[in-house]
Formats: sequence, C-alpha cells, structure tokens
Amino acid sequence: MFDKKKNDENKIPNGTEATKEFNERVSRLLVVCLDGICQMIPQKEALYSALKNLGDVVRKATRPKPLAGMGKDIEDFFKRQILETSFRATKNETVMQIVLDLSETIQQIASTTDDFDHKMETSMEGIQAASTIEDILSLKDGILQEIVKVRVNSQSLKSAVTEYKKTTQSLSVKLEETEAKALVDSLTNVLNRNAYNMKIIQMMREFSQTKNYFCLLVLDIDHFKKFNDNYGHKAGDRVLKSVAASVQDSLRASDLVFRYGGEEFVVVLSGIQEDNALKLAEKIRKDVEKEYFVDKDQKLKVTISLGVACVKEGESEIELFERADKAMYVAKSKGRNRVEIAE
Ligand code: GH3
Ligand code: MG
Ligand code: MG
Repeated sequence: MFDKKKNDENKIPNGTEATKEFNERVSRLLVVCLDGICQMIPQKEALYSALKNLGDVVRKATRPKPLAGMGKDIEDFFKRQILETSFRATKNETVMQIVLDLSETIQQIASTTDDFDHKMETSMEGIQAASTIEDILSLKDGILQEIVKVRVNSQSLKSAVTEYKKTTQSLSVKLEETEAKALVDSLTNVLNRNAYNMKIIQMMREFSQTKNYFCLLVLDIDHFKKFNDNYGHKAGDRVLKSVAASVQDSLRASDLVFRYGGEEFVVVLSGIQEDNALKLAEKIRKDVEKEYFVDKDQKLKVTISLGVACVKEGESEIELFERADKAMYVAKSKGRNRVEIAE
C-alpha cells in the first residue's frame, strides 16, 4: 500500500555510471510519456501505432525499472487526465439524454402543428450533433421558445413543461458550477466531489426510469487527526493516497470512488443489492486494515468506518447520502473499523 523503499531518484552518480543512470531515467520517462499519450488518443489514429511501437522499442532496448519519483508523477498525471476525460464524456451523454427525453415527451404531448413538429425535430437533431454541454443547453432555449408559442391547454403538457424547465434550470446551474472545475482529486487521483454531484444525478435518474438499483458507501478514516498529529501531515497525505488506491483496487470496474472531502470518500456501487453491497464494504474495510507502511521501525496502520445505504423509491440524492453518512457515524459510535447498514 505504501512506498516502503526510499526514493533514490535524487542521487546523481558520476562518470559512466552517470551515463547509464541518465539513459535509464530518460528511457523510463520516455516510456511513461509514450504510454500516457497513447492512452489519450484514439487507437485508430496512425500516431497511436507509431507511438506504441516506439514505446515497445524503448522498453525492449532498455528494460526500464519500475516507476518512482518523476516517472510516477507523470504516470499519475496521465491517469488523472484520462479519468477526467472519460468522466466528462459520460457527463455530456447524461445531459444530452435528459434534454432529449424531455424534448420527446413534450413533442408527443404538444405536437399540434406540423411547424412545431418540424422545429422540435431540427432542435433534437442539433442536440444529438452537439459536442459540448454549452451547445446542448443553448439548443434547449430554442426548444423552450417553441413551446411557449404553442397554446398550453392540457394539464399534462403544463406539467411536462414545468418539469422540463425545472430540470434544465437546475442542470444549467450545476453544470456552470462544475464545467470549469476539475473532476479528479489531485492528491488521491480519484474523482472529486464535483464529479460525485454529477454522477449522483445520473444514478438517481436511471433508478427512477429503469429501476437500475444502486448503493452508496460513505467511508471515513478513523482517528485521522491523531495520525496527523503523531506522524505529520505528509505521512497523512500518503495515507489518504493509499486508502484511495486500496478502495479503488477492491472495486469492480463499474464502481466509482470519489473523495468527498478531507478524509471522507463515497463509493457508488451500481446494479447491486444490499447483501452484496455489504460484502463489498466489508472487503474494502479488511483490505485497508491489512495494509500498513513502515516508518522507521514502526508498522503504521489505519482503519476506516463505513456506512452503506441502498437507494429507495422516492427519496432524493441528499436523503440517500444522509442515510449512508448516518450509518457511517453509527459505525464510529460502535467502536470504528466496522460497517453499518442504513435504516
Ligand atoms: P473519526 O474517527 O471520528 O473520524 O476521527 P478523525 O480524527 O478522523 O476525525 P476529525 O474529523 O476530527 O479529523 C479529521 C482529520 O482529517 C483532520 C484533518 O487534519 C485531517 N485531514 C483532512 N484532510 C486532510 C488532508 O488532505 N491531508 C491530511 N494529511 N490530513 C487531512
Ligand atoms: Mg475520520
Ligand atoms: Mg471525517
């Protein structure tokens, strides 16, 4: 879980040893940069194969050592970029789907004139072709204008329009807040709270439409203040990094971990029932508990407390979070290093 070896990147040797060391370091950096760039460009690009081949050639010729120091920093940087890019793509898809769904509903109820139908279709085609959230949201304004022109007679149309306005308005506010901000936490390399705020809207919506069941885990490091006081903030930061990595390693690919704040993380487990969510939470707890790092001749350990809540029909994302958070505090009050399920 922790770096047990001292990092020797800063030692500069002399003479031929220095040349060898230089070659090794440069080849290591080259490999990690090439791998990182390759992951960020589509595989069908010619540049992808060219860079991949070059990476293989360097790897074969120099057999670079495992990463440490700057190489690790560069690898982490690429990891963050890739996570950020893929998460933003999901977010765009979600926004597009929300706008399309509502436009369709409104079109079905309100299609009174051919002209209206035509304009709605054009707007919806525009939404499908849009590549940014800003484009989607500006097309939404066009749709709203069209709706206003139609005489609003039926109650169902009125409520569809109200619903549509409410959703797009709160979405616009949330997007404005999150669009400019990073979505990946730079210390732990997991998604951050902005990303969580977006993801949970998507999960709640999928649940209400397709009954795609999911559970939330809230986890918090035990007695972390004491750990910082005893071993220093830097050691504390390394613990945060390694707990995040450990949680991530315990999860399935479809699950997401977010750093919610200080030493508190949230995990979204999709398509899972309560019994399996509990098992997974217990696995995460044990995985963190069994890892340690060595500081001088001491073995340092940390534990976590977890609260599990599975989504309920009709509750809001805030209520769901509060249930999981409350369960986590029950775990704390019952002695910590344990899992509790929400009521
Ligand atoms: P409990 O078991 O009840 O959760 O106790 P605790 O000490 O973990 O909880 P408390 O909320 O009192 O303290 C949280 C501590 O987490 C305080 C703060 O110093 C530490 N912390 C929060 N963010 C960071 C960070 O980014 N790095 C480090 N090193 N420490 C952090
Ligand atoms: Mg804590
Ligand atoms: Mg806390």
